[in-house]
Amino acid sequence: MKPFWLDRSDAPQPLPPLEGSVSTDLLIVGGGFTGLWGAIQSRQANPERDVVLIEKDAVATGASGRPGGVVSTSVMHGLANGVRIFPRDIAELERLGKENMRGMMATIEAFRIDCHAEWGGELTVAVEASHVDALREEHDMHVQYGHNSVLLDEAGVQSEIASPRYKGGIWSKDVSGTVHPALLAWGLKRVALELGVRIFEKTAMLSLDDKGTVIEARTPGGTITAPQVLLATNAFVAGHSRIRRRVVAVRDRVLATEPLTDAQMASVGWRHRQGVYDTRTQMNYMRLTRDNRIIFGGRLAYAFGGDPFPKVDEQAETYQSLAAAFFETFPQLEGIRFTNAWSGPIDLTTRMAVHFQRYHGGKAVYAGGYSGFGVSASRFGARIALDILDGSKTPESRLEFATTMPTVVPPEPFRWLGAQITMYALDTADKRGGWRRPWLKAISAMGFPLN
Ligand SMILES: Cc1cc2nc3c(=O)[nH]c(=O)nc-3n(C[C@H](O)[C@H](O)[C@H](O)COP(=O)(O)OP(=O)(O)OC[C@H]3O[C@@H](n4cnc5c(N)ncnc54)[C@H](O)[C@@H]3O)c2cc1C
Repeated sequence: MKPFWLDRSDAPQPLPPLEGSVSTDLLIVGGGFTGLWGAIQSRQANPERDVVLIEKDAVATGASGRPGGVVSTSVMHGLANGVRIFPRDIAELERLGKENMRGMMATIEAFRIDCHAEWGGELTVAVEASHVDALREEHDMHVQYGHNSVLLDEAGVQSEIASPRYKGGIWSKDVSGTVHPALLAWGLKRVALELGVRIFEKTAMLSLDDKGTVIEARTPGGTITAPQVLLATNAFVAGHSRIRRRVVAVRDRVLATEPLTDAQMASVGWRHRQGVYDTRTQMNYMRLTRDNRIIFGGRLAYAFGGDPFPKVDEQAETYQSLAAAFFETFPQLEGIRFTNAWSGPIDLTTRMAVHFQRYHGGKAVYAGGYSGFGVSASRFGARIALDILDGSKTPESRLEFATTMPTVVPPEPFRWLGAQITMYALDTADKRGGWRRPWLKAISAMGFPLN
């Protein structure tokens, strides 16, 4: 089932794979947002540095061509999560997040990337009355850290988007909103090529060996040697067997409707076209497309071994509960059809935010762990990873988020078992009680924030 974003006749053809052996100053593995932003920022900072990017499939076929495409100023999975994990540095992280968004917007404008960007802000909605107090506390945080945000009561949120589920909301009006993620990724690919990056698609890194002063990456068609390697492989985690100890590859599911008619749009409202997510761990997020479809996502799942594309996600029944949540949210759209249903890999960590793993004496750095919140944070993650490869010269790459790591998560089969019980408990916690709350508390104690 093709993601709506990738289902386009103007999708660029993949570039030819690597044939033969090359050497370069910086090898980037992975053609998603992290890899592309890494390539662009590296060339912009140092035009002398030769950069090669390899992608095992085609640019944007991983998470970057599949998300909701809600863009946030936060580089720590939201302000509340940032306060939870790095209370001492949060003011600086907020500043860096806003700076990151401005940099992202500047590149989009300077290189004329038509990625359907809409800067209507982000709307966090409470779908349970018990979450309204937490929303108020979060709004206080927004005010404390200088966000231009408004707290909405039930009537206020309903006047933005008409859904009987919404009990309150925070509308953050700072530079944030939505983009067409595949158009952004393909645009970034064009920019990287214009800046002189050599890109090889259909080129999987098979192994990475430390050869002393350089690293050697083996691919089916040849080898690449480089003194620095950025592993931008997200939930696919490649390059070192230990990365997976801290990164759990879960999946999230998404639906796209057919375009809404004018009457359907009028019944929903949504005139400011914000990106929306709710306050639960098994949350739903949604946004409009340029042609007024609703993209509606959010059904975390885990397959044994962290398979990023399991067969079950190709079956229509898999999306039934997500469709049910859609019609609970928008009962007035009864009868609307879904044109696309898809899933994508999420690099979940206990911190829920980007972290960096150093391997091969610091010559290779993995940057990932955005936990489903990386459309803009990936630009920041890539910049910090480049900084770390260069010896952590900037003050931000010496902050705690860049120098420490999230907790280790147990391996299989415990990982699979724990994930199944947790997903089930999250789906049913509010309906049944019993063992579910204590279980979720125990998982929270490992570091995962669960509501
Ligand atoms: C369903 C879904 C909804 C989401 N919604 C949002 C949202 O609304 N807002 C938000 O901010 N974030 C969202 N995200 C998260 C966001 O999409 C990701 O954080 C971001 O795209 C990560 O980019 P990346 O480059 O790190 O990873 P990816 O885009 O996954 O790129 C990694 C690439 O590495 C390649 N690769 C892997 N192994 C190898 C190898 N051995 N050799 C060569 N290449 C390799 C893969 O093919 C892949 O293309 C969502 C994610 C999903 C899946």
